[in-house]
Amino acid sequence: MSPIFVGLYLLMPAMLASQGVQADINQMAQRMKPRLVELRRDFHAHPELSNREQRTSRVVAERLRALGLEVRTGIARHGVVAVLKGGQPGPVVAVRADMDALPVQEAGNLPFKSQNPGVMHACGHDGHMTIGLGTAEMLAGMRKQLKGTVVFLFQPSEEGAPDGERGGADLMIAEGTLANPKVEAIFGLHVMPGLEAGKAGYVPGAAMAAIDRFSITIHGKMAHGAMPQKGVDAIVVASECMVALQSIRSRRVDPIQPMVLTVGTIQGGSRNNILAEKVQMGGTLRTLSEATRTLSKTAMKEILSGVTAAHGATFELVFADSHPAVFNEPALAERCAVSLGKALGSGNSLRVEPWLASEDFALYQQVIPGFFFFLGVANSAQGITAPLHTAEFNLDEEALVAGVKGMTTLVLDYLERTSPTAPIQTKQ
Ligand SMILES: [Zn+2]
Ligand SMILES: [Zn+2]
Repeated sequence: MSPIFVGLYLLMPAMLASQGVQADINQMAQRMKPRLVELRRDFHAHPELSNREQRTSRVVAERLRALGLEVRTGIARHGVVAVLKGGQPGPVVAVRADMDALPVQEAGNLPFKSQNPGVMHACGHDGHMTIGLGTAEMLAGMRKQLKGTVVFLFQPSEEGAPDGERGGADLMIAEGTLANPKVEAIFGLHVMPGLEAGKAGYVPGAAMAAIDRFSITIHGKMAHGAMPQKGVDAIVVASECMVALQSIRSRRVDPIQPMVLTVGTIQGGSRNNILAEKVQMGGTLRTLSEATRTLSKTAMKEILSGVTAAHGATFELVFADSHPAVFNEPALAERCAVSLGKALGSGNSLRVEPWLASEDFALYQQVIPGFFFFLGVANSAQGITAPLHTAEFNLDEEALVAGVKGMTTLVLDYLERTSPTAPIQTKQ
């Protein structure tokens, strides 16, 4: 046990979540900062793409073993699962951190800039892993008094597995990570450049979008460009389809329901004077409610069917890489928001708007309740404001400390609330 934990250890017979203990947790996390920074910079300098996280996995597993946790590797390819059994009876909860980087060439000249050309932690997963490991270290230091078991899930391939491969949360669940031991609630976070470091944002209910990637193929009939009456022009039909698809947002979906449909690619035709036989379009549909999601997908089929039939063309519509919205069960979210406020200061736990990016954390929440929050990482004064998935993205490392404080407190409060020896509480 590192010396910083001894003080905490002696205090633990007091209630885990009491104010004095909270002050101690915050102090320990602050003292951990140099090591958190070092770890995050190491991950940042060595980013690896989805399902290729070999080195990352090795570093994570080594750190967890050094804390005395039971560690399993090779889960969902390069995933790592570590179990921390507390000394007191209580529930089993999980903390999830994702591990993969993106195919982005990092801009700027940070001293810990990516050493892998064309690969970058542009989604901040280096920060997620660091916070996961910091939280594991904090909780391992309280093992004897811990009321329950904490499973740390280090998940590869959140950004999506390469074509033809399976990965991410889907494979982690398929390989039994929520079943052995049986987890009853899961916690996760995503760094958020729209919030200043030291703050956390939460959304009760649907917090991030359901995603449906789609590809559309329009089949026409080839003909000479000077004799269109002899063919079916797939480009003209595709153009009508594309415009008509936007009427789903404007005319089919309730205006107060979030939904966006984007066609991001279009390819078709072979020559300037030949009617295109085939056009392919690729896009993404994002929604927050299952009702809007179903309505939108049905409307897409109806529009494609009607427009192509009107012109004597045919179509194929294929959805892939779909997953549901990140959904924070409202009562759990409100309790967790209180824990975040305790850890970061009540003014720093903010209810925010949902975000139409997607996260495969949603898949865990299809199995068990979970809470997913946004961790502020911006520092406007220092110019750290670049969005996620850009070559300029960076985070204020003070946020790593806030993340460890927040995640540790969330877990401790949940265990305290739900353990068999929890004090009787009045309903909120
Ligand atoms: Zn991302
Ligand atoms: Zn991400």
